[in-house]
Amino acid sequence: MSIVDKSLTCSDCNEEFVFTVTEQAYYKDKGFDYQPQRCAGCRSTLFERRKESGVRYRHGRRTS
Ligand SMILES: [Zn+2]
Repeated sequence: MSIVDKSLTCSDCNEEFVFTVTEQAYYKDKGFDYQPQRCAGCRSTLFERRKESGVRYRHGRRTS
């Protein structure tokens, strides 16, 4: 199974963004079985917001 860059649509801003091979490999390595829902910009915005509200950033669930 070959891995290629995927085009995904951000659930926040509806912009297309690329889920790169490198990122996919990272997700796979971490055991994440889902794809990012947001572009890098929205993700970092969300991350900053969570930090400000004192909620610790959580990595996704592991189902395997
Ligand atoms: Zn976005």
